[in-house]
Amino acid sequence: MELCPTCQSNKYRKEVAKGVALAYNRRCQACNTVWQPACSKGLATLFILGALAGWGYIAFAVIDWSVNTGRDRLPTPIGIIDLLVIIGGILLFRYGLGVLRGKCGALTIVETGTK
Ligand SMILES: [Zn+2]
Repeated sequence: MELCPTCQSNKYRKEVAKGVALAYNRRCQACNTVWQPACSKGLATLFILGALAGWGYIAFAVIDWSVNTGRDRLPTPIGIIDLLVIIGGILLFRYGLGVLRGKCGALTIVETGTK
């Protein structure tokens, strides 16, 4: 159960966050504080696993291509999708690792309420 960081109330409503956010903001119904919840470690682990799966897939494709370098097959160079998977994977991996180490994705107060 989440608690308001200002007054510890457990009554809040979800609000669409402005800008890029992974989760809804919470608005406390007792004191009007708006906060962005901390990124869960489970989600961070999923990000890391997703990045590893993407990289593994590309590594497999590259190995598969180098094994099958016969004339009957066209070489498949790294394409845009592969680049996106690699770069997106790096971002996800770094973010996920940061959350697990407690360096990012922490609870953030967007708007301090009145009490
Ligand atoms: Zn509150």
